[in-house]
Amino acid sequence: MITVRAPAKINLQLSVGPRRSDGYHELVSIFHAVDVCDEVTVAEADGGVELVMSGEGAADLPVDDTNLAVRAAHLLADHHGLEPSVRIQITKAIPVAAGMAGGSADAAAVLVACDALWRTRTERETLVGLAAELGSDVPFALQGGTAVGTGRGEQLSPVLANGALHWVFAIADEGLSTPAVYAQFDLMNSDPPEPEVRIALLQALRSGAAAAVGAQLHNDLQPAALKLRPGLGPLLDAGTDFGALGAVVCGSGPTCAFLARDAETSIDLAVALTSTGLCRTVKRGSGPAAGVR
Ligand code: C5P
Repeated sequence: MITVRAPAKINLQLSVGPRRSDGYHELVSIFHAVDVCDEVTVAEADGGVELVMSGEGAADLPVDDTNLAVRAAHLLADHHGLEPSVRIQITKAIPVAAGMAGGSADAAAVLVACDALWRTRTERETLVGLAAELGSDVPFALQGGTAVGTGRGEQLSPVLANGALHWVFAIADEGLSTPAVYAQFDLMNSDPPEPEVRIALLQALRSGAAAAVGAQLHNDLQPAALKLRPGLGPLLDAGTDFGALGAVVCGSGPTCAFLARDAETSIDLAVALTSTGLCRTVKRGSGPAAGVR
């Protein structure tokens, strides 16, 4: 039996370019892993892939072959010419359909855990390739830390970031569909420019100055997410009014991330955001967190 922890991600920058011929958008993303983690346990089984999920939002998720975690087990087994045999148990803490790549994190965790369980000793580079086949955000979940992602988000290079960042995440009642948010982006941006990395954000990360990082948070999908969920506007404003150093929609939303000055301030910010009634719940977390372990 093997247990691994898989971190959620947020995008400190998400710049979205034109839609490509394969339907994906050209991105520049600065991914940042945070220590809100799902726990994934794999154990020997009598054949096939069985998935059991528990925790927050688990009841809404499929446990059949449409679940990315199940597909990850099949993909790794196929790669090695094996018949897959595993029981996967996932305890969710990453909110579902929230823009924090929880499904991608679970898939990355299954790759790592099954590779250990089946003793298939897959080369790191091969594992990253399999991760990219599963989804744009899966390679980053393997890697963790802070990284620039290009292409459709799957081509990664690490970013030098000093110090810890302390976050509060405001989680909505209902998730948003990533393809729907990208489609809304297309409606609102007929000719988006080629995305470029924000040098000022890289400098802020290197300096470790949280206020400078907060001022540089940026998400091109935010207007589209706000269009689909107008209630996110007042929530972002409330966080800023309560002294957050920065406020941004996570990925395709609807979770909003608020950067606090330090761990202590993040507690006050979490309490204040809860009291607004503008979100279902809040979670605190810090980054950069390690990748799947
Ligand atoms: O790669 P993944 O399956 O996670 O992507 C989910 C959806 O998000 C895609 O089907 C697409 O609609 C959208 N997407 C995109 N451009 C990207 C990444 C995702 O349009 N670079």
